[in-house]
Amino acid sequence: MNSSIAQNLAQVQTQIQGACQAAGRPAGCVQLLAVSKTWGPDAVRAAHTAGQTAFGENYIQEAVDKIADLHDLPLVWHCIGPIQSNKTRLVAEHFDWAHSIDRLKIAQRLSEQRPEHLPPLQVCIQVNVDGGETKSGVSPQDLPALALAVAALPRLQLRGLMTIPEPAETEAQMRAVHRQAKDLFDSLRTQGLPIDTLSMGMSADMSVAIAEGSTMVRVGTAIFGKR
Ligand SMILES: *Cc1c(COP(=O)(O)O)cnc(C)c1O
Repeated sequence: MNSSIAQNLAQVQTQIQGACQAAGRPAGCVQLLAVSKTWGPDAVRAAHTAGQTAFGENYIQEAVDKIADLHDLPLVWHCIGPIQSNKTRLVAEHFDWAHSIDRLKIAQRLSEQRPEHLPPLQVCIQVNVDGGETKSGVSPQDLPALALAVAALPRLQLRGLMTIPEPAETEAQMRAVHRQAKDLFDSLRTQGLPIDTLSMGMSADMSVAIAEGSTMVRVGTAIFGKR
């Protein structure tokens, strides 16, 4: 199993480089986040041995246990799942990044609870680009105000946006949603926010996401296998 994780990682990296090249973007402009949710510490160790350092987790308690287990490794942990108020302290104390900020109240709690001895929590705002009603994420209309408010919090550093598009029926539809996210990202930058991260693209849509400007793809299945 360990050798297959290494092979899968190499394959995903090759796909990322290919997508960058096809899009005329420089090699290395897209970071790979390995989504290790539901997989145990051994799978993360195997990925680390193969050179992977950034890992994404959805379920906060599961992640905290795994982070403790893997304390000997220099890993960077990203929270990519929904964050309820009663989980903000765990996120503030154990993660390096949180991608799923969609309410000011959660951001304020994370800022207040971020321990002094740690650097600011790196955060992305989750935006609901395609208006999926069941999904979390701030609406495009409410994004600018939330982004300004989050950027002003002392113990957070706003790095960019995260999207989880609904499964699209055609590639053109998928592309349009990704493009909309890139437009929102660009317009925040134009307004003067120094953001650098567009967290967009998963196993199934990473090449399209990279073509449309993603700077970080979150890949689980293509690395670790089916959950
Ligand atoms: C599970 C998950 C991923 C990874 O999805 P795969 O299809 O396994 O690559 C990426 N982002 C989020 C927010 C997820 O929950």
